[in-house]
Amino acid sequence: MQPVASHFVNGAYLEDAGGARMPVIFPATGEEIALVHAATDAVIEAALNAAFEAQKDWADWMPVERGRVLRRAADLIRARNRELSALETLDTGKPLQETLVADATSAADALEYFGGLAATLTGEHVPLGGDWAYTMRVPLGVCVGIGAWNYPTQIAAWKGAPALACGNTMVFKPSEQTPLCALKIAEILLEAGAPPGVFNVVQGAGAVGETLVEDPRTAKVSLTGSAPTGKKVYASAAAQMKHATMELGGKSPLIIFDDADVDSAVSAAINANFYASGQVCSNGTRVFVQSGIRDVFLERLAARTANATIGDPRDEATNFGPMVSEDQLSIVCSYIEKGVSEGARLICGGNRIERPGYFIEPTIFADVTDDMTIAREEIFGPVMAVLDFATEAEVIARANDTDLGLSGAVFTADLTRGHRVVHAIDAGSVWINQYNLTPVEVPFGGMKGSGVGRENAKAAIEHYSQIKTVYVGMSPVEAAF
Ligand code: NDP
Repeated sequence: MQPVASHFVNGAYLEDAGGARMPVIFPATGEEIALVHAATDAVIEAALNAAFEAQKDWADWMPVERGRVLRRAADLIRARNRELSALETLDTGKPLQETLVADATSAADALEYFGGLAATLTGEHVPLGGDWAYTMRVPLGVCVGIGAWNYPTQIAAWKGAPALACGNTMVFKPSEQTPLCALKIAEILLEAGAPPGVFNVVQGAGAVGETLVEDPRTAKVSLTGSAPTGKKVYASAAAQMKHATMELGGKSPLIIFDDADVDSAVSAAINANFYASGQVCSNGTRVFVQSGIRDVFLERLAARTANATIGDPRDEATNFGPMVSEDQLSIVCSYIEKGVSEGARLICGGNRIERPGYFIEPTIFADVTDDMTIAREEIFGPVMAVLDFATEAEVIARANDTDLGLSGAVFTADLTRGHRVVHAIDAGSVWINQYNLTPVEVPFGGMKGSGVGRENAKAAIEHYSQIKTVYVGMSPVEAAF
């Protein structure tokens, strides 16, 4: 389990035991499974230097060959899916049942997709009478990726794949909670043919991220994290006019009308609140249910939630695992206490589970009102808030009454209403009769306080490259005097 060393820099594992100790804890048992060290100044310097030195040459490769490296990496990841999924489960505590289909596979999709796009990233020819111009799509340079702990493999690849496809290099800092998986992505990219220095991983807490963002060699930062961290990192990037992508948190509405297929809506509410034990940024944590189906919805929801198989996430039968850490568990417990004290009706769960590790029951509150803390703040745990509503206009106004705007969904049998409502929701990703599917083919990112920029799809290319214009004069130059 122990990684070969803490960091992956310039094509090789690198250790510097002088860095702060960062024990890696398996969330299902609380046991230490590995030890890494935070990057020292020397490690950070080595990583930025390697990325800087490698970038120009990597950008000069034939684009189709850059793409081939990424596609080879995708194949290696797919071939090792089980082993990588088992590591993701140890790093995060998420059930193997989930990681086998949602993590390394998603990373492989991103590498395959952006590998395919690499050779298509061209500019255009602009006729200007006798003169003409052309544009070139050029890389930004060294990109820094900073990850949250919920999807360590996926986040490394969602940032690394488009960055590398465009001819950039990357220094990636995983969350200190989940340092292991990104090292495997670095190893695999090297094996697939990426030159040393093209994708580097350094460990550490926020301070290491800060140093990476502030370094003058860094051209861009892409952060996945909370809204408060996003504000800090965005401000730091802006101070040096650096490019930035911010993938932040949400408090997204899932709106269920009377005419919805109830079982499908219940499934969506379960997926949108309990997958990854609720540690998903785009979760639909405000579940608005129209009064006509409220009782049947709550009854079926509670019955099905009682069927969750809670246990060791390494067991493929388990479909609900622990929180990532004791700290996150405490945060979630304090929100549950607030829900109760502010008058929400607890219909399911609400307790820490008495076993080793950081387990809490899937929790559902009914009769939640818009002003309650659990309806306003991102909890990032398995706590669903069910709110009642009467009319379409009312629910749209209430759904949008938040500073965040990552996602949202509507469940209805009325197609016209479905489109009308999702068009009115201020969020970057909205679903009709579905929830939380984020394939690489479609852009993903937030509106309002949920961030700037988009990951995935062709949209991501805009955020890892820039346009350079070349004006070509074809006649002698005239001047006024
Ligand atoms: P945090 O914001 O606490 O941390 C995110 C990352 O930023 C970590 O690697 C952290 O380091 C690092 N960091 C913290 N401070 C700084 C700083 N000043 N400069 C640079 N880097 C810094 O988020 P969590 O890890 O707790 O993740 C949960 C959050 O992520 C939730 O809000 C969730 O909604 C959001 N998220 C958003 C997604 C999206 O795509 N929109 C997807 C997944 C999660 P460290 O923690 O190691 O100290």
